[in-house]
Amino acid sequence: MVREIASGDKENVSRACLFGGAWFWYASDMQHQLAVSSRVAEAPTRTERGCKLCGAPVSLRHTVDSVSYYHCGSCDFLQNFHWEDHPHVLVAQDAANADARERLWPSGDPQEMRAKGWEMLGLMSSPVAWASRHVHTALKHVPLYERWYQHSARKRFPKLLDFGCGHGTIVSELRKEGFDCIGLDPFSPVESQYILRVPISEANLPAEDLDGIFSIETLEHIPNVLETFRELHRVLRPGGVLLVQTRRLEDPDYQREQDHWFYLQEPETHVSIYSETAMRFIAARTGFRRVRFRGVKFARFEK
Ligand SMILES: [Zn+2]
Repeated sequence: MVREIASGDKENVSRACLFGGAWFWYASDMQHQLAVSSRVAEAPTRTERGCKLCGAPVSLRHTVDSVSYYHCGSCDFLQNFHWEDHPHVLVAQDAANADARERLWPSGDPQEMRAKGWEMLGLMSSPVAWASRHVHTALKHVPLYERWYQHSARKRFPKLLDFGCGHGTIVSELRKEGFDCIGLDPFSPVESQYILRVPISEANLPAEDLDGIFSIETLEHIPNVLETFRELHRVLRPGGVLLVQTRRLEDPDYQREQDHWFYLQEPETHVSIYSETAMRFIAARTGFRRVRFRGVKFARFEK
């Protein structure tokens, strides 16, 4: 899970990066020093393997740190096959990263994580919050509005899953607020009855049981996208909402920076990069009624 600390000042301020809730920091200047040199491979521009989403032929688009990203012209999904090529290495690396990040940032600041949890719930449950960040930001300081939307969230989305919960700080903060929230993360370092430390395919969650699922900076790590979305759809009740935060290809930073885009600088673990078209394809294939977008990182899948 990757989370920006302050989105407005990314020129000189660190970003906080977390996968599975564990934080790690990288300053933008360090990012430059460590910037993985990317190159355009001379030879093959196609892979024999088809797109992981739709099966169409894919073309080589970026090579970052010797890992090749392939783009599907049919569903506009950017992917690499690092997981398929090195599954054991990838698991070990994610586990090692989780461990390193745990030491850097033990659990996330509860205040910030609670605010993040409320942001997720606002985007899930409040049309105003979804419609405009500015309106939402302005209104959330109006006590009556805040109380209304918190009340509405509790009523409509009492049972929640944080998919990719890391340390589970949001889970415990939302539990304090009265939600029946559980987390799932195979790399979570936390032992808790509310955190399932298994892949979702092994979690055996009951069907149509959850009112809402949120997933913060996790889906870019998922190699088996359709299988994962089908499972997330299965465990949501009809009318339930899956809210995801992951950068999409519409990000102007990507358009400008291409190989140097920060989201591509962890090619071993950022294996799936979505677009609006790719997410619409996923929604249609996995049974979601529709998907809506806000900005370049939020998407709301409605069952
Ligand atoms: Zn495709």
